[in-house]
Amino acid sequence: MSAEQKTLPKSAVTNRTSFHKVLMSFIKRPPLHKKLSLLLLLLIIVLAGTALSMICRNSGKDTGHFSGDRAFSHVKEIVELGPRPSGSEALKKAGEYIKNKLAESGLEARDGYFTARTPTGSVAMNNITGVMKGAGDDILIIGTHYESKYFSSQVFVGANDGGSGTGVLLEAARVLSIRKEQPFTIWFVFFDGEEAFGEWSATDSLYGSRHFAEELKEKGLVPKVKTLLLLDMVGDRDLSINNDAYSTPWLRETMHDAAEDLGFRQYFNGPYVPIQDDHIPFLDLSIPSIDIIDMNFPWWHTPDDTLDKVSPASLEIVGLTLLRMIDILEDRFAH
Ligand SMILES: [Zn+2]
Repeated sequence: MSAEQKTLPKSAVTNRTSFHKVLMSFIKRPPLHKKLSLLLLLLIIVLAGTALSMICRNSGKDTGHFSGDRAFSHVKEIVELGPRPSGSEALKKAGEYIKNKLAESGLEARDGYFTARTPTGSVAMNNITGVMKGAGDDILIIGTHYESKYFSSQVFVGANDGGSGTGVLLEAARVLSIRKEQPFTIWFVFFDGEEAFGEWSATDSLYGSRHFAEELKEKGLVPKVKTLLLLDMVGDRDLSINNDAYSTPWLRETMHDAAEDLGFRQYFNGPYVPIQDDHIPFLDLSIPSIDIIDMNFPWWHTPDDTLDKVSPASLEIVGLTLLRMIDILEDRFAH
């Protein structure tokens, strides 16, 4: 009972029927009004909050949205270390950066040290793996190389070639780590030694991925690895992802379907040509694999493969398509 009713003249209350009394008590009682107003206010706050979070999600500010700008900032950090050929101090620093970012996303970051025998002698290399545990034992590998090709005659930082894939993987790891648990375990693998030291050949190239595939075989893990999605040179502003002829046909279809779903199909119409890249050692183990690569890059293996050639918009198109592919694979693996 409110204090106001206590002050009503006694006659005003007694002259009315009991029905009136009940009715008037409902109409006049300020506490009920206040309660209703409070409820309305709470409802408005909740609705406004929901609307705001939806706006943030669409504008990319929400942490669950793949951001091309965030991916680009990783490329920038790595490129600013200077040329980072295998065995260099700069590549070690790039590796530390990658491991820190993986750890920030809650992934376990593993080193995979080994020594490669190259035409220029033994080189210490490190394949870095970020492990995102899922509900099941099956493994999906998302890979890229992170070192830059060594040139004695030019300064080469590989912003697109080695940098772009690294940026997309780190941002994809962050986004996936805050989504619902995946049905499979995802390994984000940063391969060392993709580039040849001399003339590209079966023995002078793909040092990291060949070593990684060999380890899978030795550990009996090949049947567990369902797919490799490889990214390389995905930052060109004039994005035209190839249709690599070596890649597993159904994975090319998955890439096209994912791009189609997002309205990005026109960026995945590059020439159908066979491309040798880090997916080859996995294909040799009969692991379905795809190389998502744009070979039509005028600055390929030149000193002009610099940060200004990398477009955040292209990184975002590839990153979103990659995430969509993972959604499609999730359904495929579930059946
Ligand atoms: Zn290259």
